[in-house]
Amino acid sequence: FMGPVGAFFMTLGLPVAVFGLYLFCNKDSCQIYPLKRLLQVKLPPCDQFWHPLAFLICVGWFVANVIIYLIPLGRTVQGSLLRDGTKLTYRINAVYAFILSHIVFVVAYCYYKLSVSFIYHHYLSFVTSAVLLSFILSIYLYARSFRSSALLALGGNSGNFFYDFFIGRELNPRIGAFDWKFFCELRPGLIGWTLINYCMLAAQWEKHGVVSNSMILVCVFQAWYVFDALLFEEAILTTMDIAHDGFGFMLAFGDLAWVPFTYSLQARYLVDHPNHLSWWALAGIVALKLCGYYIFRSSNSQKDQFRRDPFHPSVKNFKTLPTKRGTRLLLSGWWGICRHPNYVGDLMMALSWCLPCGFNHVLPYFYFIYFAVLLIHRQLRDEDNCRGKYGDDWTRYCNIVKWRLLPGIY
Ligand code: NDP
Repeated sequence: FMGPVGAFFMTLGLPVAVFGLYLFCNKDSCQIYPLKRLLQVKLPPCDQFWHPLAFLICVGWFVANVIIYLIPLGRTVQGSLLRDGTKLTYRINAVYAFILSHIVFVVAYCYYKLSVSFIYHHYLSFVTSAVLLSFILSIYLYARSFRSSALLALGGNSGNFFYDFFIGRELNPRIGAFDWKFFCELRPGLIGWTLINYCMLAAQWEKHGVVSNSMILVCVFQAWYVFDALLFEEAILTTMDIAHDGFGFMLAFGDLAWVPFTYSLQARYLVDHPNHLSWWALAGIVALKLCGYYIFRSSNSQKDQFRRDPFHPSVKNFKTLPTKRGTRLLLSGWWGICRHPNYVGDLMMALSWCLPCGFNHVLPYFYFIYFAVLLIHRQLRDEDNCRGKYGDDWTRYCNIVKWRLLPGIY
C-alpha cells in the first residue's frame, strides 16, 4: 500500500472515489472527465449530501444486523489457530440475516408500499452516512487496539498512525462473543448491497413503468453472489481478511461504504440508462456467469475441503507438495492449473455483472476494472505471505504451478 503515505492518501481518496463515482455517473450524465476539465464537474447542492433519515436508516440497518448476529441461532465453529495458540469461536447464521431482511423488504415494499426508491433519490446522503459510520468505527477500533490484552495483526503494527489506522492494529476485535470484523465482512455491507439493488429496480419501475431484463440480471447475479458467500460463511475464516489482516479503516470502509455503494453502480446506472438485452446477449452473459461461478465455487471448495480434511474422498487422490510447515499444497485439480483459480472465476462473474449495462459508457465497468486491480494486488500480497510462511517450499510450488492467474498469459 506504499507505506504511510499510501495509507494516508487512500484514507482520504477512497471516500472521494465513492462520491466521485456518483458525480461522474448519475441521472444527468455518465462520463469520465479529462483532468483539465475536472473542475467543471457540477457539484450538487450541499443539502444533497446529508439527510438525517438516511443516517438513521444506515444506523438502524447496522443495529438490526447486530441483533440478528447475536440471536443464538445457527451452529458455532472454531476459527484458525492464532499466534497465541488459541482459536476463536464464531456463530454461523448470516444466511438467516439474508432471508429475514429479504422477507422484511418484500413485505415493506409490496404490502406497506414503502417508497424504497428514497435511496435512489437521496443516494449521496446514504454515501455520506456510510462513510461517516466507517470513520467512527475505525476510530473506535484504533483506540481500543491499545488495550494490553489485544492480539495485534503483524502487518498493522508499525507505530505509524496513518498506516496502522488504515491497515488495522487489532486482529480480531471483540466485545464478548461479538466479533466486529467477522460481523462487518459479510453482513451490513453485503446484504445492504443486494437491498440497494432492489431499491434501484423499484426506481427503474417508477421512472419508466418497466423493469429491463438487464436490471433483473444484475439484481439476480449479485444477490446470488452474496447468498453464496453467506451460505459458505464458514469459509471466510481461512481468508486473508480474517486470518491475517487487522481490522482498521481499509476493511471497515470497504465493508460498510465501498461494497454497498460502488458495487451497486450497475443497478443505479440501469435506472437512468435502461438497457434491453437481446436473447443471444442474455444467453451469453448467463453462460459467462455460470462458468465463472463454477470455477469460483469449485476451486474455493476444493481448497477448503482439503484444508479441513485432506483425506476426504473428493480430494484425497490429488497430487500434493509436502512442506516443512506441516501443511501440504495442492498440485492438481484447479490449484494445479494456476495459483489463484478462484480469482479467475470471480473476475468472470464480475464481467458478467457489467455487460448488462451495454457498451455506451465505460463507468459501469468500474467494478470489473477495480476488481482486476484489487485481485492482482491481493494475489501479490498473498504470495508474499506464502513466501514468508513456506519459504523454499513456496518457490518449489511456484516452479511446478507456474501461472498466477491465466495460464500462458500471467
Ligand atoms: P484464497 O482463498 O485464495 O486463499 C489463499 C490461501 O490459500 C494462501 O494464503 C494459502 O494459505 C492457501 N493456498 C494457496 N495455494 C494453495 C494450494 N495450492 N493448496 C492449498 N492451499 C493453498 O484467498 P482470498 O482470501 O484472497 O480469497 C477468497 C475468495 O474471496 C476468493 O474467491 C476471492 O475471489 C474472493 N474475494 C472477493 C472479494 C470481493 O470484494 N468480492 C475481495 C477479496 C476476495 P494456507 O496454505 O496457509 O492455507
